[in-house]
Amino acid sequence: NFAERSEEQVSGAKVIAQALKTQDVEYVFGIVGIPVTEIAIAAQQLGIKYIGMRNEQAACYAASAIGYLTGRPGVCLVVSGPGLIHALGGMANANMNCWPLLVIGGSPERNQETMGAFQEFPQAVRSSIYGRPGACYVDIPADFVNLQVNVSSIKHVERCMSPPISMAETSAVCTAASVIKNAKQPLLIIGKGAAYAHAEESIQKLVEQYKLPFLPTPMGKGVVPDNHPYCVGAARSRALQFADVIVLFGARLNWILHFGLPPRYQPDVKFIQVDICAEELGNNVKPAVTLLGDINAVTKQELASKKSLPMNYYTVFYHVQEQLPRDCFVVSEGANTMDIGRTVLQNYLPRHRLDAGTFGTMGVGLGFAIAAAMVAKDRSPGQRVICVEGDSAFGFSGMEVETICRYNLPIILLVVNNNGIYQGFDTDTWKEMLKFQDAASVVPPMCLLPNSHYEQVMTAFGGKGYFVQTPEELQKSLRQSLADTAKPSLINIMIEPQATRKTQDFHWLTRSNM
Ligand code: ADP
Ligand code: MG
Repeated sequence: NFAERSEEQVSGAKVIAQALKTQDVEYVFGIVGIPVTEIAIAAQQLGIKYIGMRNEQAACYAASAIGYLTGRPGVCLVVSGPGLIHALGGMANANMNCWPLLVIGGSPERNQETMGAFQEFPQAVRSSIYGRPGACYVDIPADFVNLQVNVSSIKHVERCMSPPISMAETSAVCTAASVIKNAKQPLLIIGKGAAYAHAEESIQKLVEQYKLPFLPTPMGKGVVPDNHPYCVGAARSRALQFADVIVLFGARLNWILHFGLPPRYQPDVKFIQVDICAEELGNNVKPAVTLLGDINAVTKQELASKKSLPMNYYTVFYHVQEQLPRDCFVVSEGANTMDIGRTVLQNYLPRHRLDAGTFGTMGVGLGFAIAAAMVAKDRSPGQRVICVEGDSAFGFSGMEVETICRYNLPIILLVVNNNGIYQGFDTDTWKEMLKFQDAASVVPPMCLLPNSHYEQVMTAFGGKGYFVQTPEELQKSLRQSLADTAKPSLINIMIEPQATRKTQDFHWLTRSNM
């Protein structure tokens, strides 16, 4: 600690060594000579281990492996000129491996201009471990090493913080979950990026929850143990060749993975790429989904989204809101459907929202939608009516769908279907319930028939009907319905039958009939 000895003199070498210590550098590999010898000695005096090697190349390989193993950069210390040139192999290798590394080289004495070189340390450490990890070179002029400076003139720099953790886009996480869920032969490829990210615990959970066969790359081995029942390492070629969905966790589609191309892969295999480096996404193949972010964080996001299938109200309205035309009419009725929908779906124009109103009336929705559609047709052609109905609410006047089709009105009906009023049961519970008893004796009054295909009411009259269970299907059917201006459509959106609104902070809002 220099702080209390401000009038004292200290050498550049010691300042450098202290800066390394502050950055939690534990190991320095290198070959000393003019002008870096003093740096190695000073480092040792501060408790940093110095390992003298026989060639800078090996020293640099060693230092880069420290970076991979510990997440803080290892240091390679070299002399100027040839020393640095020999280290280049190790630097290139670290960069290609995406491993953090700090190479410190000596250089001839500075020319006149001052460089503020000591301040370069935190910057170098930061760029070696932030974003995609890689090699960093710090050049230290010879006269800096032996220069004596006043301790008080040293600017103290703090340890560079661990990299911030980035997460992927929520909609991409949902899409990835449904692509994986709908895969026939999914395969997870675990690369050394996953190892570096310390994502072992979350990836193993994902493997087990989704029952995903996985293939480790050479250095991805051990993230999930090789003897795990879902490891397909022994059948590598076949696994690659027959997979229809491949999730890449910190592995690049380079030569090691045959560039992701046929004949080693199905021509239409869907890749889901998870990487911290945006530039890596879309290399060699066009991925079905890209998840830009830290592998551990993204894996946790996937685990959380798995739980939200079947969808809940919030997932549904999130995706609806994303595509809602700004000028559309929103008509809505239902209990939770109307309440939660109102908080998420945005209105930008006056008189463009119609719902159960003052009297809290169910059954008004389709009539209102027809009226809005007539006005839209006559006053601003092209404008759409989005009618968001609970499954029970829809039932009150569902036959008006025939009217909608008869007049070919620009209405998109969304039935948010939870098999009941407020809440319903899933098919299994329903069957279980009816095993020994008559429906009228046991079925709770708020339950409706589970898995009802309300979209067929629309197809019965020539409109378009969609039955959707995943965010991906919802996005797609909504996109198609909005694009199809020739026909009305009904999207029957299955959600978790027991889904409710988020826990409210105010106790007076928790009663289910609110
Ligand atoms: P392998 O050789 O095992 O296939 P690669 O070196 O090809 O692995 O790929 C590693 C990938 O991991 C790189 O694209 C890198 O950007 C990425 N990566 C490194 N650290 C992280 C992290 N914390 N989160 C996400 N991706 C990461
Ligand atoms: Mg790779």
